[in-house]
Amino acid sequence: STSIVLFTRDLRVRDNPALAAACRAEHVVPAFVFDDAILNGPFAAPNRVRFLLESLADLRASLRDLGGDLVVRRGDPVAEAGRLAGQTGARSLFITDERSAYGTRRLGRLRDLGIEVSAHPGVTVVPPGALTPASGDHYRVFTPYWRAWDAARWRPIASAPKAIRLPSGVEPGSLPELADLTSGSASPDPVPGGEREGRRRMTTWLREAAADYDRAHDDLAADRTSRLSPYLKFGCVSPLELAKAGPDGFRRQLAWRDFHHQVAAAFPALAVEDYRPRGHRWNDDEDALAAWRDGVTGVPIVDAGMRQLRREGFMHNRARLITASFLTRDLGIDWRHGLRHFNDLLIDGDIADNAGNWQWVAGTGNNTRPGQVMNPLRQASRFDPGGDYVRRYVAELAGIEGSRVHRPWTLPASGRQASAYPPPIIDIE
Ligand code: FAD
Repeated sequence: STSIVLFTRDLRVRDNPALAAACRAEHVVPAFVFDDAILNGPFAAPNRVRFLLESLADLRASLRDLGGDLVVRRGDPVAEAGRLAGQTGARSLFITDERSAYGTRRLGRLRDLGIEVSAHPGVTVVPPGALTPASGDHYRVFTPYWRAWDAARWRPIASAPKAIRLPSGVEPGSLPELADLTSGSASPDPVPGGEREGRRRMTTWLREAAADYDRAHDDLAADRTSRLSPYLKFGCVSPLELAKAGPDGFRRQLAWRDFHHQVAAAFPALAVEDYRPRGHRWNDDEDALAAWRDGVTGVPIVDAGMRQLRREGFMHNRARLITASFLTRDLGIDWRHGLRHFNDLLIDGDIADNAGNWQWVAGTGNNTRPGQVMNPLRQASRFDPGGDYVRRYVAELAGIEGSRVHRPWTLPASGRQASAYPPPIIDIE
């Protein structure tokens, strides 16, 4: 028998239930289709396309080590899967279940191909919809979800395939170059993609930093969080493996990820709509928005975060909170502008996590405290007390020592003129 496993955002051979199930067949066609609908849309940011290409090269190498290969196609994934089934005589197709609106539609269309299609868990620790409150259909707030999540029984880890045999006569196809897929350029200092790199980071982090997570995860300069979000986004590491190995506070963050995915699956409109109080108006200030995007607001802690995003395609969670609060609460600008900019640059950019977090900060979602505002200067002195995070990313301020770097406007005029750093665009004190 022959089966197809269609990779999507599960680019790993370890703990991949869809791949493990497909490998019960005699011959397996591991396939990835560059989806034109995604490549032509707003989700194909250069930073993510680059990470995707590196992850696919790594996946191909792992599959070759097992005796197989990665079969690469471009076009509509459903049509290409149908064509592969026709060419190889495959009667079954295995895919990782993805509950975004797009993933759900794709699964429905695959089921119309006339071959047996089975969808397997793997994007989250607990699949969206698996946990429901005693009264009601879906969890809307996090704390009760977290309690249920933490008490739930998780699936066992799927075993990695020992060997993969391709059917004869399948042309693997070559991986495209970044320039074939996008005209934009990627950030200069990103993390490399792939399962091997993800596992290396996971193992090192669990050994060296995990025990310290609860204490250090908000320390901007120490940079002690796992930085595994890009690998989770593309499935290079298994969220379940991480949840089983990580400390309590860390598991809670993975539960936040699952929570956002189940909210997005239940209420897809949350990514575009909000529930802000009646009469609330956003501020259409193009100049302020541009200054925020470019990291030239004159508020060092905000600019450091925005510049980290551009340089690395990543931003520390505490900086995401500070910059998002500054945009929506201090500048009064619509969170959807922030969401779009984050989506353009984040390697881990994911509609469920991005929208869920923006709504939470802006106070517009269904799980939020509408009154919370983060004072950037107070945040700076709590989470970057020595100023090292700012100096790392804001070159103009690199010569200012200690916490004074957070208030360059209080320095003697001579010290300020020496740098090209702008004054704050709003009265922040
Ligand atoms: P760690 O602290 O090591 O946490 C481990 C994992 O838990 C992360 O890799 C991530 O998968 C998950 N996680 C942690 N915090 C959150 C959270 N608040 N919500 C959801 N998952 C979480 N995360 C994304 O993966 N994609 C996004 O597009 C995204 N957009 C965000 C936008 C805003 C405005 C904010 C405030 C946060 C956003 N986050 C997003 C959540 C969080 O900032 C990142 O997941 C985290 O910074 C990644 O770094 P890490 O892997 O070192 O995290």
